[in-house]
Formats: sequence, C-alpha cells, structure tokens
Amino acid sequence: MTVRHRDGIHFEFQGESRVVADARSAVGAVNVVSHAHADHTFRTTPETVVCSAETAAIAEARTGTAFEFVERTPGIELVPAGHVVGSRAAIVDLEAVGGTDGGDGIPAEGPRRFCYTGDFSIRDRCYLEGFDPHAVAADALVMETTYGLPKYRFSPQEELEAAIADWLRDNDERPLFLFGYSLGRAQKLQWLARDATDGGREILVSDSIHDVNRAIERATDGSISFSGQPYESLRGLGDELVVLPSNQARADWVETAVDREDGLKAGFSGWAVDDSFRYRGNYDVAFPLTDHCDFDELVETVRAIDPEVVYTQHGFDEAFADHLATEYGYRARPLKRDQTTLEEFC
Ligand SMILES: [Zn+2]
Repeated sequence: MTVRHRDGIHFEFQGESRVVADARSAVGAVNVVSHAHADHTFRTTPETVVCSAETAAIAEARTGTAFEFVERTPGIELVPAGHVVGSRAAIVDLEAVGGTDGGDGIPAEGPRRFCYTGDFSIRDRCYLEGFDPHAVAADALVMETTYGLPKYRFSPQEELEAAIADWLRDNDERPLFLFGYSLGRAQKLQWLARDATDGGREILVSDSIHDVNRAIERATDGSISFSGQPYESLRGLGDELVVLPSNQARADWVETAVDREDGLKAGFSGWAVDDSFRYRGNYDVAFPLTDHCDFDELVETVRAIDPEVVYTQHGFDEAFADHLATEYGYRARPLKRDQTTLEEFC
C-alpha cells in the first residue's frame, strides 16, 4: 500500500490505483472529487466518482460536462471541508476499499484509516460550516498545507470581517472593485458586502461569477443565494460594489474602468500577509480573507486528529512537515509529485 502524488493523490495497492483523489484523469477504481475548483472533465470514463451533489452541480456549470457520481461508497465517507460550497474531505478505510485478504497488499501493521483533506478551512464563515478535525478518526492524514509557514497567521474571522466592513463603509461615495476567485471568495465578498451595507449599495458581478452564483443557488435549492447582478457596463458608477475574478485584477479593461470611475481596488487572499500581493494586483488595500487554514489552524487540525503519519501537499509542504516532526514528533513528510520512491507500509 502506497500513497503517491501523481495527477492527484493515488492510494495504490500492488501498483494499482484503487482510490484517486482530485485528478484530471479519473484512473482510479474509485475517484474522489473534493471540490469544484479544478476542472474535472475526466478524459477517461471513470468507474466511480465520489463527491457531493453540490460539487457535481457546480463542476457541471463550470465545465459544461455532467458526470455520474455517488455521495458515498463502501470504504469512503465524505465530511464537510469548509473550503467552498460542496467541498468535502474524504475518510478512506483501506480494509473496506481494498479488502484485507486476496493479496491486496494491506499490511498487518500501519495506518488503516486515511483522512484526505483536499483544500479545507476549519472556520465557520458566511454560509459555510468549517471542517471539524475533532470529529475525524483517522490514523493517517493527507493534508493541504498552502499556508504552512508561521508568518501566515490571520486574524479571527469576526475581526477580519469587521475590518472589511469598516473599509466598505469608509469609502461609501465611490465605486469599490473587489477581487476574489470566481468560486469561493467572490460569493463571500457578495455576502459580506450585503451585510456590511445593509443591502444599501448595488452589488455588480462579472458573468462568470454570476454563473457560479446561479449554480450554487440551484445546487442548494435556493438555501444559499447571492445579491450580485451582472453589469451591462461599468460606466457612470456611483457607490457600487463590483466583484470581479482575481485573475482580472491587472487586466487593462479593469485598470481603465477603475481610473475612469475613480474607484478603489481591494484584494482578498491569505497571501495578503505579503506586501508583494498588493503590488502584484495593484490593489489599494488587501485583506487576508481566505478559504484555507492559516498556519495555526493547520497545526490544530493535526493535533486534533493526532494521526500516526502525516503527508503534506501544496504550498509549504516541506517546511510544515518539518515543523510537525521537530515540534510535535509526528512522522510527517511532503508528498512530492511524481516522486517514485515514497514510504511504503510494509
Ligand atoms: Zn480549492
């Protein structure tokens, strides 16, 4: 039994990818899709896709391709990951997915239950329930470590939201351009903006963000809804709040509109802790509003689950694994992509 980072995370038994998580090619016998950020268009016809109904609906809206899915399968249980609507972590029970006999390569000793987090956040915020590491029983943890350095510590959510609300209210006579990912941050910005201004300011969004809004509203039967409306033009703005995809922050059409309308630009990301984030996006202000754990929350997650072994991936995977090993004595190592020799449980 081996865990490898290839295209996605592979749980392999005797060279066969039995469970594959978050890959573009669904080559596993069972394929987990943790959330709808990646474009899961599946070049192969997957045998079984495990994801939430919300993830399937949002992925279909984003890619135009529907796929068959189940929300659970023997040996795999999904739990809320608190990252974006529909995001899930997966609890993988090796005995149930691989069997204990028939030479499946599951050793008598070693981890039996893996928790694979995908992207996750333990904060309850807006309309999302955070990932609850205290409710997870697992003896191995495969986790994302985007913000795995001590400098990435973010204020408590209420403080962060209060600071954003203050800035919106302090600038109530000019258009404000707010930038975040089309799925995730863009919806939370609409949510916070509506709360902070008591619905008194018009919220405009790009078509791509509007499409994601609609997909979430449909996927949740309207229990979550957003007030942003698509704009016809960005001319003649007054005090509107304009939510745009962060990859457009430096686009010419955006800079032109911001200048012409005498607007201000705000960026939202955990990377806002670094000054370079503000300069790269040419933002007037930046807030560390994120859909990931900060450093302390990553540590808290590991300590709450208290697994025998931790595999890290994304961001500061190496530094964070070192921190877990030296500070807390965990067996921890980064999962390097396409690295051929990894620890095998045997
Ligand atoms: Zn994500």
